[in-house]
Amino acid sequence: MVDKADRSVLRALVAIAVVASAMTACSNSQDQEPSTAVQATIVDDAGMADEADGANWLAFGRTYSEQRFSPLTQVDTDTVNNLKVDWYLDLPDDRGLVSTPLVVDGILYFVGSMNRVRAVDATNGTLLWEYDPKVFENTTNDMRAGWEHNRGIGIWQDKVFVATWDGRLNALNRQTGEEVWSVRTTPEGSALYITGAPKVFKGKVLIGNGGTENGPTRGYVTAYDADTGEEAWRFYIVPGNPADGFENDAMRMAAETWTGEWWKFGGGGNAWHGFTYDAELDQLYIGTGNGSPWNRKIRSPGGGDNLFLSSIVALDPDTGEYLWHYQTTPGETWDFNSNMDIVLADLEIDGENVKAILHAPKNGFFYVIDRTDGRLLSAEKFAETTWATHVDVETGRPVEVAGARYEEGPAEISPTFFGAHSWHAMSYNPVTGLAYIPTINLTSTYTDQHIDVESWEPAAFRKMHSGVGTRNLTTVEGKAPGALQAFDPVTGEPAWEIPMPGLWNAGTLTTAGNLLFQGRATGEFVAYDAGSGDELWRFDAGLGISAPPITYAVDGRQYIAVLVGFGGAAAGIPTGVEVSHGWAYGAQMRRLMAFSLAGNADVPPQPPAGRPEPLAVPDFEVDEQLAQAGRAIYALCGYCHGGGAVSAGMAPDLRASPIMTSFEAVAEITRDGSRKDRGMPRYAWLQDEHILAIQHYIRDRANQALEQQ
Ligand code: CA
Repeated sequence: MVDKADRSVLRALVAIAVVASAMTACSNSQDQEPSTAVQATIVDDAGMADEADGANWLAFGRTYSEQRFSPLTQVDTDTVNNLKVDWYLDLPDDRGLVSTPLVVDGILYFVGSMNRVRAVDATNGTLLWEYDPKVFENTTNDMRAGWEHNRGIGIWQDKVFVATWDGRLNALNRQTGEEVWSVRTTPEGSALYITGAPKVFKGKVLIGNGGTENGPTRGYVTAYDADTGEEAWRFYIVPGNPADGFENDAMRMAAETWTGEWWKFGGGGNAWHGFTYDAELDQLYIGTGNGSPWNRKIRSPGGGDNLFLSSIVALDPDTGEYLWHYQTTPGETWDFNSNMDIVLADLEIDGENVKAILHAPKNGFFYVIDRTDGRLLSAEKFAETTWATHVDVETGRPVEVAGARYEEGPAEISPTFFGAHSWHAMSYNPVTGLAYIPTINLTSTYTDQHIDVESWEPAAFRKMHSGVGTRNLTTVEGKAPGALQAFDPVTGEPAWEIPMPGLWNAGTLTTAGNLLFQGRATGEFVAYDAGSGDELWRFDAGLGISAPPITYAVDGRQYIAVLVGFGGAAAGIPTGVEVSHGWAYGAQMRRLMAFSLAGNADVPPQPPAGRPEPLAVPDFEVDEQLAQAGRAIYALCGYCHGGGAVSAGMAPDLRASPIMTSFEAVAEITRDGSRKDRGMPRYAWLQDEHILAIQHYIRDRANQALEQQ
């Protein structure tokens, strides 16, 4: 005899078993019964540590390990050629899309432009709710440039967490999208901003911030109670003024490695991306940022390692207390931060099982670190790296090349401030034993010869607080600008590498189906054999991809989902590189796309890539001096309108805009804020001569482009 309560438990168990078998049986049926009896997933420490649950994608890196490795096998090397679009959601009001969606029990959550969060049915893309944190209303005027992007959200139990550009951490009701609580994590009006995903563990939500280049900043991370938003702890990454007293012993220790009056320059270390909670060892790892300013001669004139810049710092997740650190770039002076992913993996090295951290930061070395104590196991180059010959494993320190610190004049250095690897996700496949890194192959010349380092003053708000100039940014000789690299952390060598025509390629996903997925700056979404790197499938999304793909399963069907919308720094920062793919503002549709083996959705084609034609205005006579003055002011505009006034699609290409020929029209938009509702910031401080200068700069750029045709 089975009583009623037992029978319902039994039914639920049977339903789970049916779903589990359907997943392996590769059912492609279009009209499956919804699996209503499956119990709701509880998003907590156990859930986010569960590597075996392939149906959900609960945490930023799928699970706490941040491997972005899925156990799902319905789509594998044999079936992937049948992968087709299952559904898509058009996002006409979005631009740069860079985030990792999360999936719980058939509902997909993601953050898009201007930090708007949406929940959709993961089987068909139907919008369930939308939350707008109204970043525009909360951001101070000059901070509004480049406010487009956010890399992800967090979930804990019944809440979704999003951090906003203007420095708030907001908790939403997971069912309705309604705001439950909101806290400020950065002082109002400060140079700090947030583009990163909150990380959730043990009932706490962790968030850091960026802004090292915006002025004197001192980085920190803060943990909040997930239920209430109450601050649990804060950890500063660099020491403040010793006269004010140190917050803790770690800051006292760190201050020993600084010289001069570093606190006047901020110090930096801002942690804006890589945070990993290690459920096994109950430790939290923070990837820390570069110096503020970049140039150590200014920041710390007597030298020193400048802890905890460019490091992985292990903290107690309950208290924020310092446990250990490993510094990848002691005395950082090139913007070589260590903010990149911190991936946890169990490796066998020389016959020993090692609990490892895998880390491929900007500086070009791939680090394998023993995460029990922070000891370096290996550090080998994964890209052209000219600032150091190698890393001495005994001391854990890089052996630098003489002159690399531009101490004897200009120094050509690889990697660059873009890094050999940026925030684009690295994945790790424990079956192939390979880490998959979107790499960048650039070189540039660093020099401070034009700067009086002894009297350099902290830069004004958002005026490039670096204290060093970089020029001649170009591709490493003999290399493609970017590559997809498979790196073997045990041998310390790349297994294979696929060159890419663009430098700014998206993060990676790998699966137990022996697959590797990546979107490209050039618009293709590609699947590879994870072992050999052989290309197996590709889909042309018709628009550059910057976001990493995810995979999940609902009712026995495996989906691969990705946001399509070229974005991030290289889509905007005025450097003159990576703006050439022809993704035009308002032309190609931004989309959330999901693929499956049963997919049969028809996707409207994208308009072809192409740049807006610069406008010829023969009777607008460019004044060279004004154009020169306008170039400096345009630096703010370039965050969205593109380097050198060449738009990568984040905002209109001003060279093609008739508006730019009218002083009144430009003044109305820039100074009076007539297009605030469309995301164009208002710059109330602009004087008439500033507006005129911008006009002349843009017209000069338009004429130059026309001449080159
Ligand atoms: Ca930086």
